[in-house]
Amino acid sequence: MCKHLIDRLASGSELSHDEYLTLIDRRSEIRDYAAALARDIRQQYYGNRIFIRGLIEFTNYCKNNCYYCGIRAANAKIDRYRLTPEEIVTCADNGYELGFRTVVLQGGEDPYYTDEILADIVSSIKKKHPDSAITLSLGERSRQSYRILREAGADRYLLRHETADKTHYETLHPDSMSFEHRMQCIRELKDLGYQVGVGFMVGSPGQTAEHLARELLFLKQLNPHMVGIGPFIPHQDTPLRDEPGGTAELTTFLLSLIRLTLPRVLLPATTALGTIDAMGREKGIEAGANVLMPNLSPVGVRKKYMLYDNKICTGEEAAQCITCLKNRVRKTGCEIVTARGDYAE
Ligand code: SAH
Repeated sequence: MCKHLIDRLASGSELSHDEYLTLIDRRSEIRDYAAALARDIRQQYYGNRIFIRGLIEFTNYCKNNCYYCGIRAANAKIDRYRLTPEEIVTCADNGYELGFRTVVLQGGEDPYYTDEILADIVSSIKKKHPDSAITLSLGERSRQSYRILREAGADRYLLRHETADKTHYETLHPDSMSFEHRMQCIRELKDLGYQVGVGFMVGSPGQTAEHLARELLFLKQLNPHMVGIGPFIPHQDTPLRDEPGGTAELTTFLLSLIRLTLPRVLLPATTALGTIDAMGREKGIEAGANVLMPNLSPVGVRKKYMLYDNKICTGEEAAQCITCLKNRVRKTGCEIVTARGDYAE
């Protein structure tokens, strides 16, 4: 048994690459134990509170061609859309009414949204709802752009690193993108005072247990405020369409290891996890996650923001989503709250 490794993590010790690897390889024996300790740690810092973030997917235009992603530029089959600044602010207003105190503006890398347009959107939302946090998830931009948006009122930024291994990164992205630039963006966001979220897909093509051990070491070293992980799910109109997807079993175990490694981290049970397993989000919470990110996008565009096949919650309106989630969360012994849900310093 390798319970002692879990105990060491829970008491704040660092593990080596080989120790993480042992845990990953022998997870079937210790997953329940790891989850129980991960829940205890979450309880210690955040109680039984689950924070919600309203996700506004405001554009599915993207200039990039990530091999895994359904909204890649080369996908000629999707119907592209952009929300106007007014529509985006209205979505944020609706979210506020529903109790959301964080909105996440996410999109493909769409040059249409200049710094000026985005700064206006951010500052109008902030002006109307000064008690809300604004999270951006707009991909790689210049330091100058990140600075302008931060000054306009953005509080947090999600930029998954996708993989901590340069060679692996290069198998998932075309030559026009670089591992170094992605990492540079993450450093700049940190420097500018954003609460930063990174993350990776579980079971992305070519990912090994060694890679995952490296991911955990990377996270420990970076110590980000948020970590988003979800299973890789193939999308039919991408080069990786025939690759196997990630599993809920491995994703939830990694959620527990991340909670144990970074006790205060804000950790979502992602929509991707809910997509591959009808109980995925509940299982994520039971593994130590403490964030949910329901969709606030207008119902008419939801099916167009298909990063992967069969994405859930693309039909119902936000109000329905939130009622459904409240009931689901209650069954795990936790409670959805409307607080901003900042990092527990
Ligand atoms: N353009 C932004 C937002 C990307 S979409 C950016 O670059 O950060 C948000 C996340 O969805 C990505 O970071 C990626 O990890 C995930 N994603 C994309 N395609 C996916 C797929 N096929 N399966 C699972 N997750 C995927």
